Amino acid sequence: MDFSEGQMFRDTIKILEEAANVINCDPNVLERMKRPKRAIIVSIPVRMDDYRVKVFSGYRVQHSSTLGPYKGGIRYHQDVSLSEVAALATLMTFKCSLLNLPLGGGKGGVRVDPTQLSRTEKQNLTRRFTSELGTAIGPDVDIPAPDMGTDPQTMAWIMDTYSQEVGFAQPGVVTGKPVEIGGSLGRAGATGLGVVFTTEKALETQKKKIEGTTMVIQGFGNVGQHAALYAHQRGAKVLAVSDVTGGIVDMKGLNVPDVIKYVSEHKVLKGYPKAEPISNEELLTLPCEILAPCAMENVITGENAGKIQAKFVIEGANGPCTVEGSKILHERDIVACPDILANGGGVIVSYFEWVQGLQHYFWTEDEVNAKMKLIITSAFDKVWELKTEKKIDMRTAAMGQAVRRLERAMLLRGLYPR
Ligand code: GLU
Repeated sequence: MDFSEGQMFRDTIKILEEAANVINCDPNVLERMKRPKRAIIVSIPVRMDDYRVKVFSGYRVQHSSTLGPYKGGIRYHQDVSLSEVAALATLMTFKCSLLNLPLGGGKGGVRVDPTQLSRTEKQNLTRRFTSELGTAIGPDVDIPAPDMGTDPQTMAWIMDTYSQEVGFAQPGVVTGKPVEIGGSLGRAGATGLGVVFTTEKALETQKKKIEGTTMVIQGFGNVGQHAALYAHQRGAKVLAVSDVTGGIVDMKGLNVPDVIKYVSEHKVLKGYPKAEPISNEELLTLPCEILAPCAMENVITGENAGKIQAKFVIEGANGPCTVEGSKILHERDIVACPDILANGGGVIVSYFEWVQGLQHYFWTEDEVNAKMKLIITSAFDKVWELKTEKKIDMRTAAMGQAVRRLERAMLLRGLYPR
């Protein structure tokens, strides 16, 4: 098992090296940035509903705590691997750095298909995983959050298990909790709203508006649904959306609230009666202004990037474009807003949730959204400035700004013992 087994980790390091080169990063510091500080691998025995015990593999990779406690989600998916979690942890470090948050980067994952678990099995798995992680997580140490396959309920179980073990309520151990137990207003929709704020900023660079624009969204989980809804509310036409069961299209624009209602009742998009079916691959190449990949990594590749007709790609997911895919988009003058910027709304509001919890003082949803907008739009401006100055793509520029802040912090703190 090695960090660099998977393409996403290798691609993340390539982007990091390129960005470090652009900003003349100290080579000793870069060496350290390329490796996660710590990786924890646990076996999670779970009592299944039929009384059998199954053992799952769980990971928590802690990439950097230079800027603050490790921060990042926990993913439940059948393809989770150490290498993937390490790539995602690395991205979290640079996401938090770019967004100027006092947080480091981490990520967790369990190799399991959560759709095959009952609620009880998912709870058993979550509680045992939390217990196996022990004091490696904590409000000042490492703060998990939802990611693919996990949700506010999962965070509630983590919070409860951790609190039971330390003996008192510790809401600060996770973010993305239900509001009733210390979650923040606005957290559930934060990543999708951030995707829309980024879209508006990207359109602005070409003097365009979101109202009347056309948008295609790949992935219809928490991020995709909220991005679609907020874009729809601002007058964008959402032409097509997709999930693992395939996509739906209506070139006149989907009735997004109706699609969301259908998915909440049927769990999947398949069978939605008021639009035409379309495959995930066809959806990516539809003519539109904005394409927002909000599902998995490695979706836009060297193979299909040449066929994309969108003018803007807004990365709601982590790592949806491979390095090769990104290069082709850049050559074709397609503006691609990278993950560490475009999907940063989630971790920004996670940061707000953590702060509100520590202060025992909670903000209104309008306050949360306005403060998030301020952070994500100023990060966009910083990225745009470096992109324009160095004539590079937005991914390298975003990584460049993130590396700059972390480099300064690492040099100031120095290397222990020397
Ligand atoms: N999983 C989300 C991400 O990839 C959120 C992380 C967090 O809120 O800590 O950014």
